[in-house]
Amino acid sequence: MGETVGRFAPTPSGRMHLGNLFSCLIAWLSVRSQGGRIILRQEDLDPQRTSPAFAAQVEEDLAFLGLDWDEGGTKGGPAGPYRQSRRGDFYESCLNRLAAMGLTYPCFCSRAELHAASAPHTADGDPIYPGTCRNLSPQEIEKKAQARPPAVRLKASGKILFTDRHYGPQAQDLATECGDFILRRWDGVFAYQLAVVADDGAMGVTEVVRGRDLLSSAPRQLYLYRLLALPEPVFRHVPLVLARDGRRLSKREQDVSLDRLKKRYRAQDIIGRLAWLAGQLDRPEPVAAKELIPVFRWEKVPKEDIFLPERLFESTQP
Ligand code: GLU
Repeated sequence: MGETVGRFAPTPSGRMHLGNLFSCLIAWLSVRSQGGRIILRQEDLDPQRTSPAFAAQVEEDLAFLGLDWDEGGTKGGPAGPYRQSRRGDFYESCLNRLAAMGLTYPCFCSRAELHAASAPHTADGDPIYPGTCRNLSPQEIEKKAQARPPAVRLKASGKILFTDRHYGPQAQDLATECGDFILRRWDGVFAYQLAVVADDGAMGVTEVVRGRDLLSSAPRQLYLYRLLALPEPVFRHVPLVLARDGRRLSKREQDVSLDRLKKRYRAQDIIGRLAWLAGQLDRPEPVAAKELIPVFRWEKVPKEDIFLPERLFESTQP
């Protein structure tokens, strides 16, 4: 077995919240407990939603918590740049390879049109693409392109089977449960699915640890790994941390954002509580991230989503 290479892959669209940090902590502990390396890659594909200021803040927050990394971020490294907004040419070359296989096509459907159609939906609630633009003639493409620039879609078919190392065996029929998916939006922004696979492949990532909300993306990503002949990483998804009413934590609503927590708590208070939620401590007592490395056990990480206990961050004053 070679060295374990993991990554933090934040989308710098706001301050990190406890849910992001929970996944980062487990990703970090998993890699560090295997003596591996960790890469920080900023997933700032969408210039409308992300900013360099948030990217810098993410780095500061991770460093504050003692979650260090070996490559990427402002540290740089051989596989850079480590900001997806700077890797467009590389994604373009991957897209061209898929196009050369005859697997891509321009799609002129708008989001509104797709949502209006009563097509079946994926597990994430997105409409499964009905294939409207799959077989357009060159004349039709030319005509439609005068009205609006197209997105690029990938023809998706086949059944993807894999084992998530935390949630067990998974299966997804791409044609019926996912449909042809977007690789590049009409405005030129590359899709997360393509960028994440291209980058994890190019950066030699062997272990992907992230929230369970992305478990249903893994089959699309494995499909891309196979088409691009890239070595597949091991996937280990982790439960989500939910607000008490069952809502997903969100950056926009400032749910338990690190901004607020840092004003009242020390790094070890935050890490201790997260480690307790992650099943690694019997009590939410203060602990430095590095002290958890020798005691970290994947078997103790819960599988059920975690409701943030009332007053978890109010019971102790700093
Ligand atoms: N950038 C994604 C996010 O912040 C995570 C991507 C991944 O881990 O594959 O949600």
